[in-house]
Amino acid sequence: MFTELTEAKKNLQKKGFLDMEVDVRLDLFAEIERLKKEKNAIILAHYYQEPDIQDVADYIGDSLGLSQQAAKTDADIIVFAGVHFMAETAKILSPQKKVLLPDLKAGCSLADSAPPELFARFKAQYPDHLVISYINCSAGIKALSDIICTSSNAEKIIEAVPKDQPIIFAPDRNLGSYLVKKTGRDMVLWNGACMVHEIFSLEKITKLKVRHPNAKIIAHPECEAPVLAIADFIGSTTGLLKFTQRDDAKEYIVVTETGILHQMQKENPDKTFIPAPPNNACACNDCPHMKLNTLEKLYLCMEYEQPEITMDEQLRIAAKRPIDRMLEISAQAGL
Ligand code: SF4
Repeated sequence: MFTELTEAKKNLQKKGFLDMEVDVRLDLFAEIERLKKEKNAIILAHYYQEPDIQDVADYIGDSLGLSQQAAKTDADIIVFAGVHFMAETAKILSPQKKVLLPDLKAGCSLADSAPPELFARFKAQYPDHLVISYINCSAGIKALSDIICTSSNAEKIIEAVPKDQPIIFAPDRNLGSYLVKKTGRDMVLWNGACMVHEIFSLEKITKLKVRHPNAKIIAHPECEAPVLAIADFIGSTTGLLKFTQRDDAKEYIVVTETGILHQMQKENPDKTFIPAPPNNACACNDCPHMKLNTLEKLYLCMEYEQPEITMDEQLRIAAKRPIDRMLEISAQAGL
């Protein structure tokens, strides 16, 4: 991955792309719409993207929805407004398409917490185990896995595996611990974590709840166990959004990346959404990787069709197998 980043960056620097400024008089919303039509491009955006990007996207979703869209689109270009492993997943599923990522440096602390060489050695200690990996991992980890899952379908995927089959779950230890409790399966966990979901302060959330006693606490399962223990509802990003649509509370303390608040507020204009505070004064509940993408970079990447995600074909084939397995199980379970 790092060779790829460096090479791509060098190519862009040769073209002067990285230093390029966008004319402030341009209507970027209109320009992006024009480029979409001219190039038969589709923009897939994750819920954690900034509001402007969500507003120009053709599809907004979490990892499962985005990978399903990437697999079935007939566009020639997929512009992935998300992080590197997500754009990689789109390339794995749609190799004949050009996949662009507005900022190639948009990585992921969770994906980086599982280097494939170390994981291969870890896996070798458990030769009888089946590997289920959360989609937030590199193509290298996917290639070492038997089935991929997302936070939306993880429980169903684990339940689809025979009860006597031992499992390794990677790379998120918090999601893994939550799933051990939910499914009763004693899985071996890789010790990775997301820097955003680990930062929430139990003390500050508790204080916030005292000030807003009627607010429901809703949390993503990547959060640590003490935070999940006080949540009224735990779910994937899409799960949290859907919960706020069907639930009758008027106020929510939202314990996940703040980007989702944009859709929550759009879907529920009469409700109040309070972002859960991190454990210091930083804005660490904003994912710094996701937020590297901007509307300007999105426009430039569509105009110049760079930076592009490329991948070794053998790696792509090996990484696709466990994703296909996930999509099959999800389809069978009606997810
Ligand atoms: S929020 Fe966490 S898991 Fe998602 S991209 Fe950012 S660092 Fe990775």
